[in-house]
Parts: sequence; structure tokens; C-alpha cells
Amino acid sequence: MRTFADYFQAPVMTFEDLNLNKPLLNALNDMGFKTPTPIQEKAFSVVMSGKDVLGIAQTGTGKTFAYLLPCLRQWTFQKNKVPQILILVPTRELVAQVVSEVEKLTPYIDVKVTGVIGGVSIHPQIAAISAGVDVIVATPGRLLELVINGTLKLKTVKKLVIDEVDEMLSLGFRPQLTHIFDALPKRQNLLFSATITEEVEALIADYFNNPIRVEAAPTGTPLVNIKQHGYFVPNFNTKINLLIHLFESNAELTKVLVFTGSKAIADIIFEKMDARFPERFGVIHSNKAQNYRFNAVNQFKAGAFQGLIATDIVARGIDVYEVTHVINFDTPDEAESYMHRIGRTGRYDKDGIAITFITEQEKPLFEKIETLMHYEVPMIELPETVEISEVLLPSEMPVVKMKTIKVRLPDRSTAGPAFHEKKDKNKKTNSKVPHKQLMREKYGKPKKRANKPGKKKGK
Ligand code: AMP
Repeated sequence: MRTFADYFQAPVMTFEDLNLNKPLLNALNDMGFKTPTPIQEKAFSVVMSGKDVLGIAQTGTGKTFAYLLPCLRQWTFQKNKVPQILILVPTRELVAQVVSEVEKLTPYIDVKVTGVIGGVSIHPQIAAISAGVDVIVATPGRLLELVINGTLKLKTVKKLVIDEVDEMLSLGFRPQLTHIFDALPKRQNLLFSATITEEVEALIADYFNNPIRVEAAPTGTPLVNIKQHGYFVPNFNTKINLLIHLFESNAELTKVLVFTGSKAIADIIFEKMDARFPERFGVIHSNKAQNYRFNAVNQFKAGAFQGLIATDIVARGIDVYEVTHVINFDTPDEAESYMHRIGRTGRYDKDGIAITFITEQEKPLFEKIETLMHYEVPMIELPETVEISEVLLPSEMPVVKMKTIKVRLPDRSTAGPAFHEKKDKNKKTNSKVPHKQLMREKYGKPKKRANKPGKKKGK
């Protein structure tokens, strides 16, 4: 029997209902995707209208296809391949991910996509671009290099996408972005951001003409399919004990991202976990070489690693399906980073669990996050089997306040000038006595020659 809700629920939209063409529909069908996510549904017609768009969506909401689908729908075949779509993203990993998403959508269209990243040889990129491309996915620095050295001409670009604008600006890419804007012709701009920070607002005000806002979930709204909880943990070493305990006691932790804000801490966690669970963990941060990072992510994707320890920035580009848990080894300084971190699990239509380890010092940071989310995260008691470590890191040591001992100084207020009377023996003054006089005093009056006996006066 039909219920009340059945009559009043909006009918579920499918990709067939969007104005997509056969090649794109077939590609979606091959991936098993039938219904657009809310951001895909909302963004599609607005992007198709040709207006500038500001999409507010976290990772995991399907935001990449939200801009790729309408862009590829409006892409037109040209014999001479020239860049029509330019997608700027903040990290190299995200370039790889977006390139792979474009490839997934284009098996039935003759679209050539290439990724452009820094930190690797520029020559293969020059060769790829010179051979002709339709879609370029790039980090801003290397893209600018290719424009400056004359390899890349941007005058054919019709659509500019800037993905993760907030991250792009917090990484300091604004100068590169403005140089790129100067090199571009008039085009449609599509900006996507998880959070709208002041810097994002400023960029939009300075360079974009009232883009239409499309929002999947208001800023700071965690995805509903992520279960969150936290542990109050006294110190770093106890956090390590808790992390080991969770992996030992819970067989469901099969694909786990462990986040920390610091590269040095990431390395320490990795050492400890690798010692306990050999070859089950990987680590990625910006000091690791590009190849090492790709390999670690691939091992993690393939399930060879049970856990991947990562810092915030590099984790941005990781698109790993079915991350079971995100563990925040420390509480991020920025509430937005927390949203990004936990958004790595519970990706579209999958459930995920986010666990945060919070020390006394981190409590105020965590409260800020709860305020942003309008949600109080439930806390779990530390399991009894987790050893509470007494060993503190230097940064955790209480600041020792030395007692200041006051020394009583003699009262000098009534003291006279700083000298005393000389003793008598020291009162003598030096006076120079001529040698002649000294001799006289010693030997008496000298005898004159004339007085000398035996000496006659004249002849
Ligand atoms: P994104 O937010 O773009 O990082 O996408 C998150 C994940 O959702 C990716 O692994 C996509 O392949 C997947 N995805 C995107 N659109 C859909 C959809 N309509 N149905 C199911 N999964 C999707």
C-alpha cells in the first residue's frame, strides 16, 4: 500500500532526466551510476545556462562530476585539438584524480585530457600539450610555467573550473591564479569550494561577476552518513597506545586514513604502527617524493595497506572508495580541515566512521568544530586495556615555574659617596727629587777639582 510520504516525496531524478548525451549516459551506466547526487542535479542546468557558478560542496558529494558532466556535455569536437576546458586544482594528487574521472566519463567521446603538475619533468607535459589536448587539469604553478614558455596558449579556453578554491588560496596560489586569469579570454567560470572563507569571498568580489551559488549542504554540515565520535586522551604516547588498540580490537578497520597536522608526527606514527603491524601501513606528506606518494596511495587503494597516515594537504587529492574510518590523531587547528578530513570517509552512498583523539589542550579546538557543525560529538571512555603512558613529549611537559628567591640588598639610601679616607701610610705624595740633590744628600758637597790635593793651580 502506498504511504502518505510516497505521494508527497519528490520523484527521484535519474541521469536520463538531465540533458545528457548518449556517450556520457553510457559512461555513467558503465560505472553503475543511475541517479545524480544533489550537487550534480543542482549544478547541471545552471552550468549549462552559461552563467558563472559558485558550487559549495565537500569532497564526497560527487562535486567532480557536478562540473565535469555539464562541461563535457558542452564540449564540441574539433579537428585540431585545442584546450577548451581548463581545470585548476590545488594538489598533484587531485590532478591525477580529476584526470581519471574525466577518462571514466569519456570512453565514448574523442576527448583528450592531460594532467599538468609541478615536481616532475616538464618535457613530457610539453610533448602532450603540443600533440593537442581538449581538457587540461593542472596545478597553477606548472600551468603558468607552460604559458610563460609559450607551450600553452589559453585563448581557446571556454570554461575555467577552479576546484577547492578555499584550499588553493590557503596554499598561497592567489598570485598564480591572477596571472592565469590575465592569460585567459572571456570564458565561463565555475568555482567549487568546500568552505567559503574570507579569502574566497575576496577573490570572487575581485574577479568574478556575481556567480550563481549552488549548494549541496551548508558550509560545515557533515555528511549524514558519517558517524562521529571522540576519545579524550591525556597525551601523545597514550594516543599511540589507543591507535594500536583500535587496530588490534576492531576487525572493521580495514581501510583507515589516520590524519595528523605535522609531517614529523606522521613519521613517528608510521614508525610505531609499522613496528607493530609490519607492512600494513603507509605514510604520505609533502616531504615524500611524488612517486613514493603515488605508490603509497595505490597500495592503500588496492587494500595492501590497512592504514594510511597522512597530513591534511596531501590527503586532499586522495579519492579512495570505501575508506571505512578516518582517525584524527590530533584535532585540526581549523574547523574546516576537520570537515575535509572526515569527508574522506562516508563518500557518496557509503557509511563511514570518524574518530577523533582529543587532549586537554585540544578541547577548545574541538569545541569550535562542534559549534561549526551545530553538533555535539559523542565521547567514548578510553578502554581499560589501553595503557595510559606517563612518558610525555617535550611539548607536553608542564611548564616548570622556578621560584624566584629574593636577595635582600643592603640599604644604600643613607650611604655616603663611594670612597673612604686614606690610611696615613698611603697619604704620601710622590715628588720628584733631582738626581744631583739625591747624590748630595748621600755623599755631601762634591769637591771641586781645584780643591783636590796634589793639583797645582797654573804652572
Ligand atoms: P567527489 O565528491 O567528486 O570527490 O566524488 C566522490 C565519489 O563519489 C567518487 O568516487 C565518485 O566516483 C562517486 N560518485 C560521483 N557521482 C556519483 C553518483 N551519481 N552516484 C554514485 N557515486 C558517485
